Amino acid sequence: MTATDDTRSPAPSGEGAPREEAPPAAPMLDVRDLRVSYRNGERTVPAVRGVSFTLDRGQTLGVAGESGSGKSTMALSLLRLLPSTAKVTGQVLFQGEDLLTAKWARLRAVRWSAASVVFQGAMSALNPVRTIGEQICEPILLHDKVGQKAARARAAELLDAVGVPSRRLGSYPHEFSGGQRQRIMIAMALACRPDLIIADEPTTALDVMVQAQVLNLLGDLVRESGIGVIMISHDLAVLSHMCERLAVMYAGRVAEIGPSRGLIDEPRHPYTRALGRAFPTIGDPASRLAPAGLPGDPPTPAELARLDEGRGCAFEPRCSRAVAACRTDTVELRPSGPGREAACLLAQEGSEP
Ligand code: ADP
Repeated sequence: MTATDDTRSPAPSGEGAPREEAPPAAPMLDVRDLRVSYRNGERTVPAVRGVSFTLDRGQTLGVAGESGSGKSTMALSLLRLLPSTAKVTGQVLFQGEDLLTAKWARLRAVRWSAASVVFQGAMSALNPVRTIGEQICEPILLHDKVGQKAARARAAELLDAVGVPSRRLGSYPHEFSGGQRQRIMIAMALACRPDLIIADEPTTALDVMVQAQVLNLLGDLVRESGIGVIMISHDLAVLSHMCERLAVMYAGRVAEIGPSRGLIDEPRHPYTRALGRAFPTIGDPASRLAPAGLPGDPPTPAELARLDEGRGCAFEPRCSRAVAACRTDTVELRPSGPGREAACLLAQEGSEP
């Protein structure tokens, strides 16, 4: 994708305004032509196939798409958290520095302190044999270089902020409910006051009521502190509730990106439309694998590899609006409204797919 956030207000113009405008400040995060493939024996499986976007402090970008569309791979590659079988190319400029080429020591310093991750499934991310107090204190001790007492005080403050009583710092992960564990993960992610949080399906394992509570909590904390957030979910309704902007991924690429309201109310890409129909209510787990009413399956890795070599739209076999050109033309993101882009030959401003 190539969309940057065009929703920012233009600089003032007219009489009295300086003629020469200062160059716009570089975005906090500038992802350029990110590509990831996994080595699988002799084969190479493409997972992310050229994704570009920007994010500033205090902005929230939701990334939606069916399972296997490349959301987690894209998000985790930003901090190089993928297994060694993954080959990553492109640029991930974070506060001006390319994290894809940064030295490991530098990357370790960035993780937690400047950018942190809330993984799906807190139980597997938390260490079962250490108290949550120890686990929240660890990044604080390591990165903030404070003493035990100050780290403990900060951990208590964080627990209170996420709605878990701070007197439970000495408890172990199994002593908490699933919702509380996910809140503890959020507390850990906030521990070193990062500028960016990547939340990968942070509430998928929770029941619907708890999901809404945890999401509201995350939303409030982010708004209060001006942190930038990339939030991954297969659930478009969850994302549109939380995020100002949405990127819909299909087969390792961005099918559509733009302000959430517009994307939900007037989708330009047929895939966004199908995904929107699939999630009428927040947290509908039944629609996780295939959006309701959308026939067929996403391309297999072998089909994706063929698409990478040739032309045509990856969504064409499942698209009820497809025309002959969709099989033969290269389909890149194109402007489709204010701050919006869609990778569909038929997408135009004001047109419904
Ligand atoms: P999503 O987060 O949208 O469900 P993923 O990023 O998990 O998608 O997966 C994208 C593609 O990459 C899928 O084809 C998946 O099978 C493949 N993939 C993900 N992780 C690995 C891995 N560790 N090794 C090999 N292939 C993987």
